[in-house]
Order: sequence, then structure tokens, then C-alpha cells
Amino acid sequence: MGCQFEIYLHGLSDSECTDAASDALDEVERLEAQLSRYRPDSDISRINAEAASNWVGVEGRLFDLLERCIEIYRETDGCFDIATGAITQLWQTHRQRRRVPSAFRIRTAVSRSGTRTVNLQPKTSSVRFSRSGIQLDLGAVGKGYAVDRVVSRLRRNGVADALVNAGNSTLYAIGSSPGGSPWKIGLQNPVQPAQSLATIFLQDSALSTSANTEQYFIHKGIRYGHIIVPSTGRPASEMASVSVLSPSAAISDAYATALFVMGWERAQSFCEEHPNLSALLAGRPAAGRSIQNGDAIHIALCNLDPHIVRVS
Ligand code: ADP
Ligand code: MG
Repeated sequence: MGCQFEIYLHGLSDSECTDAASDALDEVERLEAQLSRYRPDSDISRINAEAASNWVGVEGRLFDLLERCIEIYRETDGCFDIATGAITQLWQTHRQRRRVPSAFRIRTAVSRSGTRTVNLQPKTSSVRFSRSGIQLDLGAVGKGYAVDRVVSRLRRNGVADALVNAGNSTLYAIGSSPGGSPWKIGLQNPVQPAQSLATIFLQDSALSTSANTEQYFIHKGIRYGHIIVPSTGRPASEMASVSVLSPSAAISDAYATALFVMGWERAQSFCEEHPNLSALLAGRPAAGRSIQNGDAIHIALCNLDPHIVRVS
């Protein structure tokens, strides 16, 4: 998953805590082996290698996840798109060398992307691509999916209070913190990284944040992040960070990425049309250049209960 998973537990004996946490972290290992596109024997690598030529059968829960991803792709008008591996791979290799890919290579990668080419057959739980070159990349939803699975294992093992943290980008709070109040989560200010943006009081809910604060590079004064606008094949630049709350961590993870891609105005209208989506947006209207550290940003609270958020 490219990040550290942490579990904070209380309310049980030391050995019960250790057993429950170890059991949950084993689940993360199994999911990493299933979902990583960097492991040649993972289900995702098998799909990427074979689904252009054959129907590829997948485990039931992974099939359900792919179905959900396709629904979110449709609902977000393609802003959330897991079939963008060709584009994300291109930017990743260029990011390491701090170079911007050529327009030709971006166009080629865009032509090899798009969930519209991903077909699912529920009867046999199988996947097939309608063209070659398509690569699935579950980077925007995999951590959330793993957090949901960790949470259900912890609950099954009798854990009533815990905080699960996947690399600070997706968290889930079960029950209460040691003092009996909701878990208190600080959100980092994306343009003043030493400062806080807001505090969220989280209880039996997931919280995911998408931001360009860690995975980015600067070339000729422009910041290029790791979240891609699938239609253009270029990094999204209007948002500084997007945090989403949801009962499911896979869902909060997916929508945090989708709203980041939509940009400032569109993300707000999307939230107005989707009252179940609770989000904290930090960004600004399109200004012709990417957001830099120190820039002024706007904050919008969308469908968020004012009792659980305190803006710094
Ligand atoms: P993080 O993984 O840093 O918490 P996200 O959840 O937003 O952040 O996921 C970003 C990752 O998702 C990228 O590294 C890439 O693998 C993938 N990705 C980038 N753009 C998109 C997109 N528009 N739709 C779906 N996945 C994306
Ligand atoms: Mg995400």
C-alpha cells in the first residue's frame, strides 16, 4: 500500500490488543499481495496482464470492489477512474526524474485508459478489457478498502474502541478514544505544512484525505502532484486538499480523490447534489497555475455536521 498502517487500541488486556492488532495487520499483508500492481503475482497484475485477451476470474470481494469503482466512475463523470494505470505509471517514472512527460506520451497513455473499457461479468466474477494497454491502479481506493477489512476483523475480535490509520490518508475511528470522547484527528494545512487546517472529532466513521503535499515534484515553478485528471492525463491543480467522511473507508478514499480531481467549483456543486457526502475542501477557483506552499486558499465545509469539525 506504500504506507504504514497503525492501529491504536484500548479497553482490552495487552495480550488481547496484541492478538487483535496482529490478526488485523495480517489482513493488510494479504490485501497488499492481492491488490498491488507492483507484485507480479497479485490479482491486479494478473488482470492487467491477461484481461485484454481473456475473461479473468477474481475473488468475490474484489469483484464487488471493482463494481463499486465502476459506479463511482459513472457518478463522478470519470473523475474517479481506476483504469488510469498507464497515465499514473507515466507520471510516476517522470516524477522520480523531475521531468514532465511529452504531450505525445500523455496522449498515448490517455488513449490506453478509461473505465469504459472495463467489462464485468457478475455470473462468473470475471473482468475483461475491451482494448489492450489498459492497466488498473487501485491506488485511490485500496488503502480505504484495506481499512474497512481491518475494521471488520477488529470488531469481530471484540474490539470496541480503536483508531486505524493508513498513512494519515485514510483513518477509521471505532468507538471512542481513551478518555471516552470521539477520536480527535488533526488535518494538516496543505499549504502551510507546519500548521493545522482543522480538527475532526471522529466516531464510528472513516476519514480520507487526498492532497498533493507528499507525492509531487516542482518543474519550472509548477507543482505536479500524483492525482490525475483522467480526461487530460495531467495532475489536478485546483485543490490543495480534500477530506471526506463516510461510514466506509473505501468510499471516503474514492470520493476524496474524485473531489480533488473535480476542482473547487465542481466539487462544491457535486456535494450539493449528494447530501450524503460530507467533505472539507481546501483549494481555490482556477487561477491558471498550480497551488504552491504559502498561497492563500479557501475552505468549504460540505454537508459536515458543525459539531464534529473545528477549523483552525
Ligand atoms: P493517497 O494514496 O496519497 O492517499 P489518493 O487516495 O487520492 O491519495 O490516491 C492517489 C493515487 O490514486 C495515485 O497515486 C494513483 O495511483 C491513483 N490515481 C490518481 N489519479 C486518479 C484518479 N483520477 N482516479 C483514480 N485513481 C487515481
Ligand atoms: Mg483516494
